Amino acid sequence: MSENILKGIPAAPGIVVGRAFVFGREDLDVAPVAITEEQVPLEISRFEDALIQTRQEIIALQKKIAQDMGSEHGEVFDAHLLVLEDRMLIEEVISRVKKEKLNIDYIFSQVLKRYAQVFSKIEDEYLKERISDINDVGRRILRNLLGKMRKGLAELEDEVIVVAHDLSPSDTASMHKNRVKGFVTDIGGKTSHTAIMAKSLEIPAVVGLETATAQIKNGDVVIVDGSSGTVIVAPDAETLKKYQVQEEKLKDLTQTLGALKNLPAATLDGRPVTLAANIEFPDEIPSVLEHGADGVGLYRTEYFYMNRKDLPTEDEQFEAYRNLATNFADKPVIVRTLDLGGDKFISQFNLPKEMSPFMGWRAIRFCLGRPDVFKTQLRAILRASAFGNLKIMFPMISGIEELRRAKEIVEEAKEELKKRQVAYNSKIEIGAMIEVPSAALTSDLLAREVAFFSIGTNDLIQYALAVDRTNEKIAYLYEPTHPAVLRLVKNVIEAGHRAHIWVGMCGEMSSEPSLAILLLGLGLDEFSMPSASLLEIKNVIRSVTYETARGIAEEALSLSTGIEVNTFLTGRLKEILPHIYGD
Ligand code: PEP
Ligand code: MG
Repeated sequence: MSENILKGIPAAPGIVVGRAFVFGREDLDVAPVAITEEQVPLEISRFEDALIQTRQEIIALQKKIAQDMGSEHGEVFDAHLLVLEDRMLIEEVISRVKKEKLNIDYIFSQVLKRYAQVFSKIEDEYLKERISDINDVGRRILRNLLGKMRKGLAELEDEVIVVAHDLSPSDTASMHKNRVKGFVTDIGGKTSHTAIMAKSLEIPAVVGLETATAQIKNGDVVIVDGSSGTVIVAPDAETLKKYQVQEEKLKDLTQTLGALKNLPAATLDGRPVTLAANIEFPDEIPSVLEHGADGVGLYRTEYFYMNRKDLPTEDEQFEAYRNLATNFADKPVIVRTLDLGGDKFISQFNLPKEMSPFMGWRAIRFCLGRPDVFKTQLRAILRASAFGNLKIMFPMISGIEELRRAKEIVEEAKEELKKRQVAYNSKIEIGAMIEVPSAALTSDLLAREVAFFSIGTNDLIQYALAVDRTNEKIAYLYEPTHPAVLRLVKNVIEAGHRAHIWVGMCGEMSSEPSLAILLLGLGLDEFSMPSASLLEIKNVIRSVTYETARGIAEEALSLSTGIEVNTFLTGRLKEILPHIYGD
């Protein structure tokens, strides 16, 4: 087989070589085989054995996930165990085997398909989720019937490159970091949740390949170059050598950058900036500290609500936020309130399907509509604020009324705690994410009512340019360097500074070296990003003067297209750090 080069969207940097594991495409097509009357009881007992074996596997898996990630993450498997006890499903299989006299594997696969069809027609998110539970367990039973081990992402035995059409938030959350060397998907964009998760897990990844699952087979040797978005299937010896050399170079660079960990993030002429980390899980704390972050600029709390059946309680959230607060001592930790919706769905709320989820009932809109959920989280953050330097940040603010209403609810939460005589920081700072164009354009008005801004370019770009951030077909239009984006960012920074508040950025844009120089020149105060990118950006900031960066920003803003700006900025970066970014 000759090598096959696939081009996709770079999602998480790094180069890895490994064997492919094509995930989620286990075949449900089993051929029918006639059986005799005498074989019927045998088939039924085979089925019962498979059910028992599957039950044992799920319980073991549940234990493992609970140990690795906390008991609430194991709860998702309770629903899987319930499927195994579904009398209707089991009886339908047994009675059809008796009647049709066909092998039980075939009958079972047919019953599964029928269930999937029936459930897929139901307009109910909760029941839709049940299809994936039934399919998941069904495939597992089928594999046991067929005598093969089912492999899920949390129970891989070998180190693999995962190849999938898409990965759900719960798939990525349960990835066994040590076994998944890299992953590639057919769909998704640079800032879809899968890509963001890959970066925080520090797993090289390429998304939006469109045909990866069609072109890559289980066991194929693949190279994943997450920095350039290239995937090479069945590479020849020469290509392998080339990538091994590059991999070594990357390792050397990582080592060199390690020396910057305790040095200040300041320009050559002494302008300091804050370099903070974006996190999805509290267990990323060691990695954040290892990369020398000045704190957490964005804690995406919605992952707390995933892979579980119930909602996290106030106490449970309090424990997690307090843990963060104490680990970072006086360094700031910005807790973003629940930002569900878009491509991050949580089954507990049983939300109706929307035509445009990114523009729908999401984030702060949802929280204002469900003050019970919102206030539970706010009380937990407030209680934890007594233990460190926590700040609250609201996502998706689109105008001043929303901001005021959200702040009122914070006040109500404070009152409730006061009545309970529970300690909290009464002066806790509140900030707004600026990720909707209306907020960016009215940032002068918003700036009067918050302590800080954090620009969420992942969303801001998609709304400003009308480009769905998860859609690989239009990824070429998703341009952080588009003049419209640059003008919006500039406007927000200037409005913030006029009101004497600091302005940060927690969208992926701040972790791109060439863009970091531009943002520095525009006066950005805080850069928040996946921790793996922090030292690279620190190196860039330490290699220019503020004066130079300002000149670069000014020139970039005079250009007319995203491509022109991009070419200009990458050119300047090469001049500034030729040994790293030169050809
Ligand atoms: C953003 O939109 O830039 C952001 C940081 O939030 P998220 O990626 O979680 O939507
Ligand atoms: Mg966002």
